[in-house]
Amino acid sequence: MSVRVRFAPSPTGYLHIGGARTALYSYLYARATGGKFILRIEDTDQERSKREYEESQIADLKWVGLDYDEGPDKDGGFGPYRQSERLDIYKKYAWDLIEQGKAYPCFLTQEELDELTAKAEAEKIPHHAYHGKYRDYSLDEAKKRIEAGEEHAIRFKNPGKKWSFTDLVRGEVTFPEDMVGDFVIIRSSGLPVYNFCCVIDDHLMKISHVIRAEEHLNNTVRQLMVYEAIGASVPEFAHCSLLVGEDRQKLSKRHGATSVSQYKEEFYLPQALINYLCLLGWSHPEEKDIFNINELGETFDLNRFSKSPAMYDIKKLNFFNEQHLRALPVEEQVSWFEKVIPTDSSYFKQTQEWRNTFATLFVDKIQLVAEITEKLPLIFDSSVSEDEDYKEALSWETTPAIAKYLEGELNALSTQSPAPEKVEEWMDYLKKELKIKGKPLFMGTRAVLTGQNHGPDLKVLVSLTPKEILLERCKKALS
Ligand code: GLU
Repeated sequence: MSVRVRFAPSPTGYLHIGGARTALYSYLYARATGGKFILRIEDTDQERSKREYEESQIADLKWVGLDYDEGPDKDGGFGPYRQSERLDIYKKYAWDLIEQGKAYPCFLTQEELDELTAKAEAEKIPHHAYHGKYRDYSLDEAKKRIEAGEEHAIRFKNPGKKWSFTDLVRGEVTFPEDMVGDFVIIRSSGLPVYNFCCVIDDHLMKISHVIRAEEHLNNTVRQLMVYEAIGASVPEFAHCSLLVGEDRQKLSKRHGATSVSQYKEEFYLPQALINYLCLLGWSHPEEKDIFNINELGETFDLNRFSKSPAMYDIKKLNFFNEQHLRALPVEEQVSWFEKVIPTDSSYFKQTQEWRNTFATLFVDKIQLVAEITEKLPLIFDSSVSEDEDYKEALSWETTPAIAKYLEGELNALSTQSPAPEKVEEWMDYLKKELKIKGKPLFMGTRAVLTGQNHGPDLKVLVSLTPKEILLERCKKALS
């Protein structure tokens, strides 16, 4: 049987990182097995579903590189891929079940349901205990009432037995017999419920594996009943462990950005985000942490999921971002940086070679692309550090001599900035002629030229800095 895996988001919000993670596992499994990755839009909640969310979720999936083989805009012969366009199919299945005595129309009104719930509560029995009032009602009578226009839901006739299945993550799972009652499959509004249409679609779309979040585990019991009732074979299930924040509570907005689009807006590298998500509940067989998900190939299998909750830690994500950023070719680093550097910055007056050197100099000093903007003042702003260490370096008796000498050299300089070799020559002079060595030489020169007491490679940094800025800093050191 060929592998067909689906990601089935509800377009009721932006793509959540947990959703991106299950989409990723589905995608990787399809790629590992030569199967198909399918996108199905579960938009039967008409009030909360919005086309703009569908579009943004698709854009975010593509941004992280999870392109699907079949979906609303890519027909693979199993469409339509939006549940709102499949309502007739669900209705037909529901009525087939009614005709077979496996489901029934239910005329309980909301008030009656509320009363029955209150009664069940008073008797300390499950809420669903009294939901089956119409389970043995005459179908002919029911049809007459429906024809007369009476509002009705359709309930599934729970056969009342124990259900179990083997989950690829959790192993053997057994559900207690009375966990659910006769549950609604089509609401009185005519719209089907998730647990029903999900099964019909997974069956008709020939889905072989369902990889989804652990919070859907309890839904599986209803779904197993529907599979059996429609005579369909049950796919393999993998319920991936919960994503939790550092406080071990289910991941939510208060833990920080939880939607993929927020990371996109903050200029995270998509390859870093997806690499990090991949390891939240799955481990690489060679214990690798930094990798390109598209290089996993057959290495990705479903036996390496962890049962315990996966902790989402933004600090780790930032580390992954840093590693991926460093690994990029310099031209790509430059183009990432140019997305965040203000357009009126003097940066944009510099040559390509200058920009490449700038990127190479600072890429090791940051984790996130956006942090590069903090480095611009080191080059284009003459203001100096407030640090005690900087002030101390200026107070050394050798520092004024360094500043005086460099000021003269800079004034005599014919280029826009000194070349690194020039800086080296100056340092040699200071060492040989003025006999300044060690910390007073290195820290002193750095303080004078950069206005800071620490920073990246001095020669390169100075070679990127305009002469006027260097001169202003010399003056500050001398004042
Ligand atoms: N529409 C469901 C959700 O977004 C899908 C659950 C499933 O994968 O079965 O959570």
